[in-house]
Order: sequence, then C-alpha cells, then structure tokens
Amino acid sequence: MPLTRAEASLLSRRTGMSVEEFTWKNNGILTLLNNEETRACVFLLTSSSDVNAEGMCSVYEVRPKGCQIYPKVLNENDEAILDEGCPHKAMFPEPTEEDSIVLLNLEERLMQEG
Ligand code: SF4
Repeated sequence: MPLTRAEASLLSRRTGMSVEEFTWKNNGILTLLNNEETRACVFLLTSSSDVNAEGMCSVYEVRPKGCQIYPKVLNENDEAILDEGCPHKAMFPEPTEEDSIVLLNLEERLMQEG
C-alpha cells in the first residue's frame, strides 16, 4: 500500500518504529512493507499467509488514506473499481465518481513526492 511522507511520519510516531522499518520505495513511491512470513502488511496482526486468514490492523486509527479507501482502486482508465484481488470485495458498494476523484488526488500527491 502506498503512503505519503506525512502518513509515514504519523505511523512512525505512533509505533516507535523508524520509517525505514515499515516502508520501501516502489518505483520511488513510499510503500508499506510486507512481513516476510505472513506476506501481509507489517501492521496486519495475523499468523497466516492465507489471503483469507483472519487479521486485524494494528494501526487502524492512523492507517493511510489508501487503506481507508481500499478495496477501491483505480483502473487503467482512472476509474475507481473494487480490487479483483480483495477476497471481501462483495461486501463493498460499487465505487462512485467521488471515489475516483479521491483516488486520483491521492495518486497525484504520491507521484509528487516520488
Ligand atoms: S489497513 Fe493496516 S494492516 Fe492493512 S495495509 Fe493498511 S496499515 Fe497495513
């Protein structure tokens, strides 16, 4: 999941971890690291690498904007869609035009920082 520098700073302050401990640069974009064993986000409390396994976000209150809006993501036409890879996508309403704008603004901010 990509995140802004401000979001990374907030997570660093809340967790006591350095930004380098939970992020990497994906084509220049700051991105949350995955746990090597569970292959899920380092902040997901889970004991399994099964994509359907139970899990809880340990930083829910301060999770990045991309996490808040997920599983809404942009397709190649810059339209918000539900991520095909999300096993719970049937639980979410279809994305709206407003979702597309929120995601496009987030993408622009991330590209500016990259
Ligand atoms: S919601 Fe929490 S666990 Fe999931 S990707 Fe975001 S920070 Fe990680």
